[in-house]
Amino acid sequence: MTAQPADDARAVLARLGVTLADHEGQGVVARSPIDGAVIATLRAHTVDEAKAAIDAAHAAFGAWRTVPAPRRGELIRLFGEELRAAKADLGRLVSLEAGKITSEGLGEVQEMIDICDFAVGLSRQLHGLTIATERPGHRMMETWHPLGVCGIISAFNFPVAVWCWNAALALVCGDPVVWKPSEKTPLTAIATQAVFEKALARFGDAPANLSVVLQGGPEVGAALVSHPKVPLVSATGSTRMGRAVAPILAERFARAILELGGNNAAIIAPSADLELALRGIAFSAMGTAGQRCTTLRRLFVHEDVAEALIPRLKAAYASVPVGDPREAGTLVGPLIDEQAYEGMQKALTEAKAAGGVVQGGERVARDGVYVRPAIVEMPAQAGPMLHETFAPILYVVRYKDLADAIAMQNATAAGLASSIFSNDIRETELFLSAQGSDCGIANVNIGPSGAEIGGAFGGEKETGGGRESGSDAWKAYMRRATNTVNYSRDLPLAQGVKFDI
Ligand code: NAD
Repeated sequence: MTAQPADDARAVLARLGVTLADHEGQGVVARSPIDGAVIATLRAHTVDEAKAAIDAAHAAFGAWRTVPAPRRGELIRLFGEELRAAKADLGRLVSLEAGKITSEGLGEVQEMIDICDFAVGLSRQLHGLTIATERPGHRMMETWHPLGVCGIISAFNFPVAVWCWNAALALVCGDPVVWKPSEKTPLTAIATQAVFEKALARFGDAPANLSVVLQGGPEVGAALVSHPKVPLVSATGSTRMGRAVAPILAERFARAILELGGNNAAIIAPSADLELALRGIAFSAMGTAGQRCTTLRRLFVHEDVAEALIPRLKAAYASVPVGDPREAGTLVGPLIDEQAYEGMQKALTEAKAAGGVVQGGERVARDGVYVRPAIVEMPAQAGPMLHETFAPILYVVRYKDLADAIAMQNATAAGLASSIFSNDIRETELFLSAQGSDCGIANVNIGPSGAEIGGAFGGEKETGGGRESGSDAWKAYMRRATNTVNYSRDLPLAQGVKFDI
């Protein structure tokens, strides 16, 4: 018999060293979507408290920016060690609070560990260029300096990994972090902070308030966004949230890393390996109960392979195990809340009105919000297909020409993730070319979801244009200075300008 989620969560928190009583109060209700029951009611920060916490983090910046970057990396190395030790418990808490199946809960913590490893290496490679100068006896170079407090606003569906993608980089780059987690997943944030504090204690001499967690809803996030001592805000969530946040950051010329909604697609070409495609589609579309930003939501199937693929896909949808995400064998856990269920039903009603034939989508009878994933055959791309519904709905449209499929794929406002299943190199290269997918992520023979940390992650258009995690995403967390040094006895001016006094 699996434990009651609330009891399970409290036991996990205790093992992670969290004293829940220290955080209890009014304002934020922590629930488990596994049965909908309340785990704890937590104290939300007031806007004034948030401002004071940001000022304290700014004070930490003064000290942290002078610590050599490889030494800053040592803190993240220790944090990676603590995360390894805490992986089972923290992963369990992700399952309990966000409803992810066990392997995905553990995978989320593994992603934190991976970005820590990446950041440790990076801490010795925050390098700039030396650039040829036109002036004799001069040297030109660029240097990268810490930027300041990095504000992190995160969504419920990646309650800890997204913070770590940002925090691990920000901290090695010399920036303190202030985190406003989703009000739907406050406990994983408290637990992550407790694990981080273990690393801080071993590190020894880090300034106080290097990492701060602020609990609350949009108003607390807004305090972070508008604070003049926060030069960078990395905000992950809906496009609606991005629309509220972006103008405020632009107004004060702060940097934004916006990681917003997706409406991701896959194209199944005639030469596709259908076994591979079936598995790739199933994970991308039904995994995390359709609640990933990269979830596959639109499928374009070539008419020559539609009859071979779609009935098998429908069978997989009809039989996929839905239930308690902690139980072995479950592949689809709960939706986060009733609102998600209502959004899903609304989209399915609209799909029917647009000529869609719906299979699935019905509620599974148990405590919590469980649904059978829905697959909807659409006569054309229309209606709810054009926007993100954060639930497991896969719309399927048949196509004849690849150019039409790519055009349909690119015809939505979001631009996060995409993929093609094809064994024809002309098709796959076209898809990856400038005339192909317009998304930040474009894959071949894997689905659009399940990114790893080595690459830069993010998307175009209404997804917000931000990039975080690997590659050179670290540059957003630092400021670049171009330095010209004159080691001659003359003062030649650039572009041949004369100014003799
Ligand atoms: P949400 O937009 O409701 O909330 C996200 C966060 O923003 C929360 O912490 C919330 O409190 C905060 N927030 C909301 N309004 C705000 C405001 N005006 N000012 C400051 N903060 C504000 O999103 P959600 O329901 O938690 O998550 C689901 C959404 O997130 C989906 O659209 C999904 O695609 C997106 N998402 C995107 C990515 C990505 O990397 N592109 C990753 C995960 C989730």
